[in-house]
Amino acid sequence: MNGYGGTILRVNLSTGEISKEAYDPEVARNFLGGRGLGIYILYTEVPAGTDPLSPENKLIASTGPISGLLVPGAGKMDWTTKSPLSGGYASASIGGHLTAELKFAGYDSIIFEGVSEKPVYLYIEDDTVELRDAGHLWGKGCITTEKMLKDELGEDFQIATIGPGGENLVSYACIGHDYGRQAGRGGVGTIMGHKKVKAVAVRGTGAIPVADNDRYWKQALAMYKACKESDGLEVWQRYGTTIVTSWCDEVGALPTRNFQQGSFEEGPNLYGDVMREKIVITDKGCFGCPSPCGKYSHSKKHGIRVEGPEYETIALLGSNVALGDIEDVAYANYLADELGVDTISVGNAIAFAMECYEKGLIGPEETGGLDLRFGNAEAVFTMIERIARRDEGLGDLLAQGVKAAAQEIGGDSMDFAIQVKGMEQSGYETHSATSMLLAYMTCDVGAHHNRAWAITYDLEVGRDKVEPGKVAKVIQLQHYRPLFDALGACRLQWIELAIDVTQYAPMLAAITGEERSWEDLVKISERIWNLTRMYWWREIEGFGPEWDLPPARFYKHPSTGGPTEGELTPLESVKKLRTMYYEQRGWTEDGKPSPEKLAELGLSELVDRYG
Ligand code: SF4
Repeated sequence: MNGYGGTILRVNLSTGEISKEAYDPEVARNFLGGRGLGIYILYTEVPAGTDPLSPENKLIASTGPISGLLVPGAGKMDWTTKSPLSGGYASASIGGHLTAELKFAGYDSIIFEGVSEKPVYLYIEDDTVELRDAGHLWGKGCITTEKMLKDELGEDFQIATIGPGGENLVSYACIGHDYGRQAGRGGVGTIMGHKKVKAVAVRGTGAIPVADNDRYWKQALAMYKACKESDGLEVWQRYGTTIVTSWCDEVGALPTRNFQQGSFEEGPNLYGDVMREKIVITDKGCFGCPSPCGKYSHSKKHGIRVEGPEYETIALLGSNVALGDIEDVAYANYLADELGVDTISVGNAIAFAMECYEKGLIGPEETGGLDLRFGNAEAVFTMIERIARRDEGLGDLLAQGVKAAAQEIGGDSMDFAIQVKGMEQSGYETHSATSMLLAYMTCDVGAHHNRAWAITYDLEVGRDKVEPGKVAKVIQLQHYRPLFDALGACRLQWIELAIDVTQYAPMLAAITGEERSWEDLVKISERIWNLTRMYWWREIEGFGPEWDLPPARFYKHPSTGGPTEGELTPLESVKKLRTMYYEQRGWTEDGKPSPEKLAELGLSELVDRYG
């Protein structure tokens, strides 16, 4: 299979059996790979109603047909599972070098099933695949574990690992790789921890077959040339995602004090240029990347080195908890990365608890005497550790996510539990940015930005407008951006360097030998999106429009400061956006893909068969 390893590894942790299966070319045609293959396996193999924390749940790590090839940013891998945080679909993308290495070893995907009795790690060296004892690694942090395994196996191995957060089943535990890259969202690390898989270590020495080598080379050179000649390259490489911190602060999109407002009085201390000058020591990139956005930093104040903080972490563990010193944010980032918890969810959880504390819904008795006010850096560090350890009381409660915490704390706290579908919102304040609000409402994993980063579009066409064009833009982004997660590539060369997105079609054709247009690929992305939506309908009892509502904060309580002070999006407008979205997607008025839409996408038979 050109572009593919052609083999899927199935690892049964209950029996210790490892098998190699052929990757069905028809599935690859219809779902490409990465998140496409992930949802296909989740839908067809994990029975409806499975408890996420049960042996029947599966964790699926998948490369795509572009992964590991000479294509800008071909270093992305998807991790899919049934989420322990939302109870629905989880898919998280990781960069670095793991995906390329797995392809070099000849595999497109690893399916973990069952539960091991004792901690193990998966060792892959080309044809040799073994489960090995990980007793000596259990309890260690992600960064520490990666170093230990590299010392043990050699620097040539690529390692993915969980930390104590995953071992202790924090609902938003992440998987770490390459000393600072994470598959962060939705609890993919939790499932790895539940299965007692501490790590995956991969080394591959093979080649990936390509259909038309000349065309592939020409296309690759043209794409790299476009990246290198891009006007956006210099500034992107200098600042990475921190390029947007100042912009968000200035336009009122920087979440501050649990999303109460979109501008932070100490925001300028967190801007990209300050960070670059104060703590960044080098740039760091993924496999095949011409525009490395990773910023590797050294905090002298805290005596740590860390990859980051990137924008989302600055937003959630900086302004959102009111920390105004970039070195404190870097340290919080380091703790979360080492302990293996998602910086976005943990930042939300702590900000939520801080607001509860300041409003008197919890007090010193619940915090164990900790002064949990906004801006207290020591309290943030302590809470990250308590959450990762699941210390009795608040640590354990916040480890379950803000939705579960609000259900327990009560009062009006659900209004300011900033989540959709149970997943905490990433770094954009959306009191009156209606495209971004809709993107969060309808994102297929919960309130995450990476499916449709529409915040700049809001500013372009009028932040609070509620009109069909905005809905169409969100849907277009929800097809374009996740397509990269099925191809196994980074989307940032398209977004930040403005390379022509349609160029990925001839590149894929050169690799696989099958001619497909960009529109054909977008149709596959729509197929993946709709199957994912059907998964929510199948798994969540009572699923429907209520699950597509934003946090009440954005329609009930106006922004308290900054350029958007006093603004909100009335519930009526929220519902109007939602209705237009369902209509434009060809869904029923309850938000379910219609039989006609499923037929159009070739999904009817699959849905009939698997529910
Ligand atoms: Fe990785 Fe950043 Fe390059 Fe994308 S732009 S491939 S995330 S380093």
